[in-house]
Amino acid sequence: MNGTVTIVTGGAQGIGRTIAAFLAEKGSDIAVFDIQDGADVCAEIRALGRECRFYSVDVTNTEITKEAVNQAARDFGKIDNLVNNAGITRDNLLLRMKEEDWDLVLNVNLKSVFNCTKAVIKHMLRTGGGIVNISSVVGVMGNAGQVNYSSSKAGMIGLTKSVAKEYAERNIRVNAVAPGFISTKMTDALEEKAREEVFKAIPLKRLGESRDVAYAVYFLLSKYGNYITGEVINVNGGLHM
Ligand code: NDP
Repeated sequence: MNGTVTIVTGGAQGIGRTIAAFLAEKGSDIAVFDIQDGADVCAEIRALGRECRFYSVDVTNTEITKEAVNQAARDFGKIDNLVNNAGITRDNLLLRMKEEDWDLVLNVNLKSVFNCTKAVIKHMLRTGGGIVNISSVVGVMGNAGQVNYSSSKAGMIGLTKSVAKEYAERNIRVNAVAPGFISTKMTDALEEKAREEVFKAIPLKRLGESRDVAYAVYFLLSKYGNYITGEVINVNGGLHM
């Protein structure tokens, strides 16, 4: 990916940070879009010899997102790739779920993808490009207590396939990665019993690592994914096949 420029949303921490650092390791310069401070990830990326800039962006805000994308294109001279990774959970059973938690999760997880994709695609029309959306296994198989989250993640898959069809002729490839249980702060907080239950359901009998997600993103954005578009890659240890 030498010489490419990639925007990673939610890249200041967690899986997004690992994706940003791994793509930098593979030669890409990185623009981090996050509401958290991206100074640390940018320091990590610069130490790898790649350029990194942090943009403080709430990706639910259409105008601010558009301005930040245009600013990144001016700063780097172009945009080759976009990884839509920013996401949140506000879990509850349907009957207890508040309307604001539905709206918030759909805005952060799905509307943000519309905002970023629309703003970025204009910069890819002549050059081509790659987009990867970080969905989730629960967007594919559903999950009790996550009606808002699983709907947003299923919506990302529909968006992925539609945008892939609209812009294939411009050589813009659009794919999704659907991670299962990944070892993060969220899964570290699982109690021992819950952890055992999770392990029972996963054929590989372990949690995934953020790096496992980053490998799939790299595969899709690099030349190895050159003939792949509209695809969803499951990275879930066999939890759902
Ligand atoms: P984290 O919460 O660790 O990181 C997400 C980052 O996105 C945070 O810095 C977060 O800030 C930021 N963010 C949230 N809202 C916005 C916004 N409106 N604009 C810009 N940035 C925002 O999440 P994970 O690393 O665990 O997850 C990353 C992605 O992977 C998510 O889309 C998640 O749904 C998906 N995923 C995660 C799995 C897991 O096991 N962890 C499994 C399957 C999918 P803040 O901290 O303030 O919210």
